[in-house]
Amino acid sequence: MAIKVAKFGGTSLADANQFKQVASIIKADEARRFVVASAPGKRCKDDIKVTDMLYQCYKMIKNNEDITEIFSKISDRYFGIIKDLGLNFDISGELEYTKNAMLLHSGRDFAASRGEYLNSLILAKYLGYDFIDAENVIFFKDNGTFDEEHTNTVLSEELKKHKNAVIPGFYGSMPNGTIKTFSRGGSDVTGAIVARAAAADIYENWTDVSGMKMADPRIVNDPKTIETVTYRELRELSCMGATVLHEDAVFPARIAGIPINIRNTNCPEAKGTMIVASTGSYDKECVITGVTGKKGYSVINIEADKMNSTIGFVRRVLEIFEENEVPFEHLPSGIDAISIVLNTELFEPQRDKILNTINRRIQPDSLSVEDGLALIAVVGRGMVKVKGTAARVFDAVSDAGVNIKMIDQGASEINIILGVEERDFETSLKAIYNKFAG
Ligand code: ASP
Repeated sequence: MAIKVAKFGGTSLADANQFKQVASIIKADEARRFVVASAPGKRCKDDIKVTDMLYQCYKMIKNNEDITEIFSKISDRYFGIIKDLGLNFDISGELEYTKNAMLLHSGRDFAASRGEYLNSLILAKYLGYDFIDAENVIFFKDNGTFDEEHTNTVLSEELKKHKNAVIPGFYGSMPNGTIKTFSRGGSDVTGAIVARAAAADIYENWTDVSGMKMADPRIVNDPKTIETVTYRELRELSCMGATVLHEDAVFPARIAGIPINIRNTNCPEAKGTMIVASTGSYDKECVITGVTGKKGYSVINIEADKMNSTIGFVRRVLEIFEENEVPFEHLPSGIDAISIVLNTELFEPQRDKILNTINRRIQPDSLSVEDGLALIAVVGRGMVKVKGTAARVFDAVSDAGVNIKMIDQGASEINIILGVEERDFETSLKAIYNKFAG
């Protein structure tokens, strides 16, 4: 029988009604054998996530402040869910233990991880599923990186012992037994790890939107949902700001070739978005999979005579960024000129040092910096070998009266990057979306 791993995000498990909705989804398909749960998220716009309250508790303990009030707010979230579900489950001992452990300085990650731990205990009880504590099956190495292979060996053995189980997302343990979390949103990563270990046919990621949109709905009015996106396209889209899934969630699923299906807990009939390794064909009507972007970039322009024929020129320039630990985003070049596009926030603290070193070591004919650049990524596997896509992108932007300051297209042809002034960002994005999908 097929195996599905279903991960439910914080809004999907924010209160008893959402728990009921989640249970009906799980019970509707017996292939949904393994469930990964987040901590209770926001119930409404102004609500506070339990994870945020736990981080706050940790901070207050460090500052010797009293956590009674905030901890009782956390407890009330769990008591409320249990009561409204009509569950016969006493969680007070677990809460007491958590509070005491936090007061004994068990660490920031321990504090944060209790959000998913406690919620998963309740969900397991409600569903009648086994509970597998992530601390016994998800491992990190001494250097803090995720220990993929050890985890996969132990977790896959453990899963074989259970017909159905709930596993808390977001955390695992260090070799010395202390709790460690992934970065924020990390339950997505746990879901992918569990899917790999279960050799699942599909990893369902249940959230509060019906899949990934072709463009940011805050900029484009009611953008279309992406039906299928490849892992590579997703990387391109999420690096540039489209956030629907934690970016590290792709890797475990990709290694095992497991498709990821983004679904909406409150609209389970919608097919959502499928994230797959590759697709055989593409929809000719829709060459573009998505368009996204970000503001806040700077570009350093360096001009030097005979740059093109000077062996090692670019290496010497890039060495300066490496020494200052500033990553670059793009590197468009001309015959005797090169531009380095950087995230302004990362560049700013080292700005003077970097520019002085370039002047001293490289002695360029000219050196200038422009801030306030926005980058737009037009991503689509459908662009490969299709003539005229770049022309249509540029047409759209120029028809909108926007000046393009930079262009970069990799040979893989799955994306075209444009640099425009920040004030032209929204206009350009809308114009490109409308040209291809409007
Ligand atoms: N609860 C954690 C967070 O808010 C992890 C997650 O929900 O994925 O970041």
